[in-house]
Amino acid sequence: MSLDQIIRAVQQAVGVNSDGKPGPETWRAIYNRICPDAQPPEQFKDRVDDRSERVIATLLPDVQPYARALVAKAAANGITIKVISGLRTYDEQNDLYAQGRTKSGRIVTNARGGYSNHNFGIAFDIGVFEGSRYLDESPRYKAVGALGTDLGLEWGGNWRTIQDEPHFQLRPAWASDLNEKDMLAELRSRKDSGEGAYV
Ligand SMILES: [Zn+2]
Repeated sequence: MSLDQIIRAVQQAVGVNSDGKPGPETWRAIYNRICPDAQPPEQFKDRVDDRSERVIATLLPDVQPYARALVAKAAANGITIKVISGLRTYDEQNDLYAQGRTKSGRIVTNARGGYSNHNFGIAFDIGVFEGSRYLDESPRYKAVGALGTDLGLEWGGNWRTIQDEPHFQLRPAWASDLNEKDMLAELRSRKDSGEGAYV
C-alpha cells in the first residue's frame, strides 16, 4: 500500500474528503477520534449576538461553547454568521416533517420526531449574513464548515447522502464509532430515561 493510499484510507475512516492530502480537517478529525472530549478554546466562550444567543440557549451546555466559538471564529475570518436553529421538540420535528408531505410547502427534512439530532440539543444550524441580509446560498458556508470541523464539530456538508451545509453537531464520545442510526436510537433511549446525551 502506498503512502497516498494509506492517507486516503485514514481520511475515509475519519469521514473527511479522501483527497490524499492530509490538511487541517483530516488532522482535526484524527485528533477528535483519539481525544473525543477536546474542548473549544477558552477565548471563544464570550456571548455572541442576541439572535444567536436565543438559539444557543436551547442547546445542551456542552454544545453552547462550540456554537459561540464558531460564530467568533467565522467573524475573525471576516464571515458573519448567526445560529438560527437549535433544539426542536419531537412535535416541532413532526410538523417540519409534514411540510411538503401532508402539509403545503417544500420538503425540508427526512427526519420524523426523535430521528433528528436537533431533537436532543446536540445540533444547530447557522445562516451566513451579508450585513443584515441572510444568504441562502454562499461559498462561505463551506469556509464555515472547515472552521467548524477544526473546532471538533461534525459538519453536515461532509455527509455523503443529503449534504446540509448550515448544519453542525457535537458527537458524544460514546458515539464515536456508531453510525447515525444507532447514535439516534441511543439518544432517544437516553432522553426517555432522563440520562444526558454527553454523560
Ligand atoms: Zn440542522
